Amino acid sequence: MMLTSRESEKLFIDGLKTGLLLEIGGMGPICLLVFRLSLSLPLTKLIIGIIGITLADIIYISLAVFSISVVIKKLKSYQRVFDVVVGTVLIIVGVLFITAGHVVDSPSFQGRDLFLWLFGLNIANPITILFITGIFSLEISKRNMDLKKSGVFAFGFLLATPIFMIFVCLVGSIIGRFLPSTFVHIINVVMGCVLVILGIRSIIKNREMNKMHNTIEDDIRELFKVNSALLNGHFKLSSGLHSDTYFQSALILQHPKEAERLGEELAKKIKENNIKVDVVVSPSIGGIVIGQEMGRALSVRAIFTERVDGKVLLRRGFSLSDNEKVLVVEDVITTGLSTREVIEVLKVIGVQVVAIASLVDRSAGKVDFGVPRFSLLSLEIKNYKEENCLMCKEGTIAIKPGSRK
Ligand code: ZN
Repeated sequence: MMLTSRESEKLFIDGLKTGLLLEIGGMGPICLLVFRLSLSLPLTKLIIGIIGITLADIIYISLAVFSISVVIKKLKSYQRVFDVVVGTVLIIVGVLFITAGHVVDSPSFQGRDLFLWLFGLNIANPITILFITGIFSLEISKRNMDLKKSGVFAFGFLLATPIFMIFVCLVGSIIGRFLPSTFVHIINVVMGCVLVILGIRSIIKNREMNKMHNTIEDDIRELFKVNSALLNGHFKLSSGLHSDTYFQSALILQHPKEAERLGEELAKKIKENNIKVDVVVSPSIGGIVIGQEMGRALSVRAIFTERVDGKVLLRRGFSLSDNEKVLVVEDVITTGLSTREVIEVLKVIGVQVVAIASLVDRSAGKVDFGVPRFSLLSLEIKNYKEENCLMCKEGTIAIKPGSRK
């Protein structure tokens, strides 16, 4: 598709606006540091630090543009490490300010050092990783942007960083000109304290957040175990692939209380991301129960598709009007084939699919539907084509779970 100059202009401005809002909203320790430095360093010397900050942003945004979501997810799993690193660095810088504020004004804290400090701090900054990449990826999928469009949007988005930082520097250098040196000492101490507090918070607060995050995943793992819904053996999946693991989610969903809770947990992710849904559509049979529970949790209709003679259809008088926003809900996504079939049917009808949700994602986020997707449990499980299946080679026969032994 061609991109008109008017369209790219709008995308660029939208990107810049989104970026600026994030900078203002996420004014964190880095902004504080730049402000303090600008009190005593001229913009010409600080610019190298701003380049460092921007470079860190460029790296993460590039990851998001090329939708290397697996990499970002991996990085997020190291969130804990980043939090501790940033926390520690902030405490060190804070103490430095309190005890020897003049150190940061010495020539050794300029040029390459300044670049490395600010680049390192921003690359490990939880706000950069979680916030900026998360929101940026979401914008890409919400606006359904291809590589070219997201490139233009990213350019605007990234420009927000140096613009905002230069603005902070200019304000700082104006204030710095009128500030007596005793005041700068006081600011050093105050700023040092703020940085130390932010550092301690980065180490402590996120630990609780991570604990919470873990319990939901662990909870679900436990649920699968307790209900013997996680089977080990030699299986033939509905996609035709062979695997040594199978999720029989029906064994959990047979308990209405658990089904309701899982529906609520999954719906929470949709609500948290401000995705507006008018109706839930699930492929039968596996998706019906969790689809119904998602419908309940989101207070919207829940309908399902059926397979007749190999074709996926909406039956039973179910209908959709073309302005309705659809959430597709599955129990387990492996290759995404059945989900894709539902999306195709909905496309023919002309309704808009706004997101995909599944209890379990066996592809660890690798399957891409071009819209945001959410799952309660994301795992990477190896599937084999029949001709490459090691278990077949060993002579055992793949069973179709769900069928009688
Ligand atoms: Zn096999």
